[in-house]
Amino acid sequence: KRSVYEPNNLQRCRQVVCTKTRAFIIILIIVLISLTFALIAAFARPGGLPSCSELTTPSQNPDSVTTPPIATNGNAFPWTDIRLPSDVTPESYDLLLNVDLQKFTYTGEISIHIQAKKKTDFIVFHSKNISITSYSLFETDHENSELRQIKINEFLETTTNQQIYLKLNENLAPLNFYKIKLLFESHLNQGLTGFYRSSYILPDGTDRWLATTHFEPTDARQAFPCFDEPQLKANFTISLVHKSDLIGLSNMNLLFTELYGDSGLVIDHFAESVRMSTYLVAFVVCDFEKVTEQTKHNNIKINIYTPPSMIDQTGLALEVAVKVLDFYEQDFFQINYPLTKSDHIAIPDFAAGAMENWGLITYLTRSLLYSKEESSARDRQWVATVVAHELAHQWFGNLVTMEWWNDLWLNEGFANFMEYKGVNHARPEWKMLDQFLDDAVILGMSSDGLKSSHPINVPVHDPAEINQIFDAISYQKGGSVIRMLESFLSQSTFEQGLHSYLIKHSYQNAQTSDLWEALTIQAVSEGVTDVNVGTIMDTWTSQMGYPVVNIHRQGNQITATQERFLFNPRSTLEEEFTSPHGYKWYIPLTWITSESSESQQIWMPKDSVSFTIDGSPTWVKMNVNMTGFYRVNYDKNGWEILVKQLNTDHTVFTSADRTSLIEDIFALARSGHVNISMAMDLSRYLIKETEYIPWKIAVDCLGYIGYLLKDSPDYVLYKTYMVHLLSERLNEIKWVGKGDQLDIFLRSLVLGQALQLNVKSTIDEVKRRFKSWREGARIPADLKGLVYHGGIKYGTEDDWQFVWNKWKATTLATEKSKLLSSLAASNDGLILNRFLHMSLDENFIKKSDSATVIGAVGNNPAGSLLAWRFVRQNWGTIMERFYGLMSRMKRIIVATSGHFTTQYDYDEVKAFLEEKTAGYHIRAVPQSLEQIEMNIDWLTRNRQTVVEWLRKETESY
Ligand SMILES: [Zn+2]
Repeated sequence: KRSVYEPNNLQRCRQVVCTKTRAFIIILIIVLISLTFALIAAFARPGGLPSCSELTTPSQNPDSVTTPPIATNGNAFPWTDIRLPSDVTPESYDLLLNVDLQKFTYTGEISIHIQAKKKTDFIVFHSKNISITSYSLFETDHENSELRQIKINEFLETTTNQQIYLKLNENLAPLNFYKIKLLFESHLNQGLTGFYRSSYILPDGTDRWLATTHFEPTDARQAFPCFDEPQLKANFTISLVHKSDLIGLSNMNLLFTELYGDSGLVIDHFAESVRMSTYLVAFVVCDFEKVTEQTKHNNIKINIYTPPSMIDQTGLALEVAVKVLDFYEQDFFQINYPLTKSDHIAIPDFAAGAMENWGLITYLTRSLLYSKEESSARDRQWVATVVAHELAHQWFGNLVTMEWWNDLWLNEGFANFMEYKGVNHARPEWKMLDQFLDDAVILGMSSDGLKSSHPINVPVHDPAEINQIFDAISYQKGGSVIRMLESFLSQSTFEQGLHSYLIKHSYQNAQTSDLWEALTIQAVSEGVTDVNVGTIMDTWTSQMGYPVVNIHRQGNQITATQERFLFNPRSTLEEEFTSPHGYKWYIPLTWITSESSESQQIWMPKDSVSFTIDGSPTWVKMNVNMTGFYRVNYDKNGWEILVKQLNTDHTVFTSADRTSLIEDIFALARSGHVNISMAMDLSRYLIKETEYIPWKIAVDCLGYIGYLLKDSPDYVLYKTYMVHLLSERLNEIKWVGKGDQLDIFLRSLVLGQALQLNVKSTIDEVKRRFKSWREGARIPADLKGLVYHGGIKYGTEDDWQFVWNKWKATTLATEKSKLLSSLAASNDGLILNRFLHMSLDENFIKKSDSATVIGAVGNNPAGSLLAWRFVRQNWGTIMERFYGLMSRMKRIIVATSGHFTTQYDYDEVKAFLEEKTAGYHIRAVPQSLEQIEMNIDWLTRNRQTVVEWLRKETESY
């Protein structure tokens, strides 16, 4: 699954860990980002984990699990474990669903073929919000023919653990086969999980409905009764009944369609699926159209489905999907894609960025569709990235699945890593591998430098816990440690080991240790290393956090020691996890020197290591290109020489090394390892920096300072310094024109900053373009986010209304997303307040957009207090709506409460959130509190020094 939102830079800077979810705004993001930062947090992208299910309603908090579950008839529910018993396992399912899109209901018939593993006289499986109208059990032969009926003495259901319990009149015999037959009915819910309804607007203004699914992690049980755990794989044979003017889609290819009795309806019969987990099952009933192309290698049909009016926006996704599928099949995994088709469908209402259902990948519309004329370079990259991510899952996740959700990172970390490789193959000119640093490594470090982080491999039990680990740790840190692993094993060893792992566990499940074992065997067989991959990697996956390596140099002699890095070691937060390794890591230490740009490597065992460097170089730069997931702190002399080199000639370092120096020194200033003045001295070189990624990180780091100073008269010093740093880039920027992907991103970043810093010429140009847009002129796609944002920020109520109307009218998803976010950029409190109230009213804003709106207003300094007040006022509604959509819940909490900078506010936020969330496990609460603590801590320690530095620095400007 690809998450929906990404934290914006401000959030990143503030270390609010939001998950990575990217959603809406990603696209915009950059633009926004740029715009945003320090002060403005306005544009924020919503952060929050990728969400998933509605699974958990507030009444089902984890604490309730400690009391025995009660059945719906009031009796005790005999099975008390949230996990299913292992006495029987499903072999296959025959599922027929009859879907009524007028009444938003469906009826179902299911036969679940099971095998008894042990003698048992009861069966437990999952069901949620489904009314089971008939149940029976048969003994069968191994070909599923009924032999005899078995009496069921008792049928019990519990909502607590979402289970059904069948008490049998006799014991099932080990190894024998049985069939559970159920009839059931339910409704197409509006909650974005399970089997739900979604709608889009036809060009004539009328609504058109569709029925679709989203099951990961635990909502297949909300669509049909099943054994809903990832290791209980089975074959699914699905049939869909619907009106004849609609089409049905499912994981597998359609065999044939026929009339369904004399009902006037038709029934689609799909081929039996490969063995797969329940969370990967999918089906859709809609009136969409498709475009099709076959892959070159194996003639797999790639189909892109959209509402008919959007069919012209499918070209990019189709092209990328064909290229990437061929690349994965032929080059990377070297394992054939086992289905005959790969469908990709744009779903108007969707809780995540996309979902990798085998053979039927569902997408947020903006993640799949792209308009050459109207969408930006960022939109384009997002589509390609999501397609590559979901296709990687077809092997990593679908073919081989994690045994349980504690290993979710295996799926998501790997897909996160692969999306860059996949897109890099399709569009090498986008430099995706360079972008990994910003998008993954540094974002992962932001989240993982907090006490409220969690280990990559984390114990999870109930749906709310499972939902919350779709976050920056599983995705970005997961992807980053895999990249580090690839780097020290070598690409070919890594790919060969991975291939063996996938072959060995095909159509089955695996744990993290299985991957390490396969890689160790490969590495040892090639003589690459005699180190056990598991021993090394366990220090990265089973403890949270990451190290800072302290480098002490005397002549040619280097001594490296390690300690855990925390942004705020002074935080009072109690940690949820302890470390099995005492916060020590096996670190692949790499370096270059002023005399040799060839990377050297030595292993740092758990404590420290000493080594000698060649020659007599002036400087040593560790963690070459930031391939390792660690920070480096040099001794004072070491930093001074590096700062001097950057300011003399920064081009001796690669863009990635410059980025890592900026990122490390500002993080280390925050943690207290280096003086903030040293970081500011380093930042001086930026006036000569011409590349996007170092600038992006610098703007994040400096933006945090601006954000913390925003209420102070000293803010003007910050502004003056930033405008000075940006001056050369601003002078050479052309508002329109093509360029490389990263040049386009840089332009958006710089202009966004200028807007944010109130650079008059930029504001004037933005206002001029906004005005002519209102009069009918076109805005170049890459400037839209900026112009809408500036137009609203510096505009009138009438301008706001105009954008609102445009938002309502447009059917272009990328456009809709930019317009909606810009509406939160207003400086007018009345407008923002009204917008907040509209966010929970479905007459104005769809449920799938409301968290975006609340979060965006919360990230706008002009709206943050209003948003926090709004959240407090409407807490009950917010809990009810979003507790089951944890990514949105998290986004709302972090964006509206994490921005505070005083003890007074900390106390108030803490009292409120702790009272309201007592008994629930919402990780966003400690994250927000830690964020505020960090803000206070930074101001206490650094404010005076920074202000003095800025005053002295800007005196001469
Ligand atoms: Zn994913």
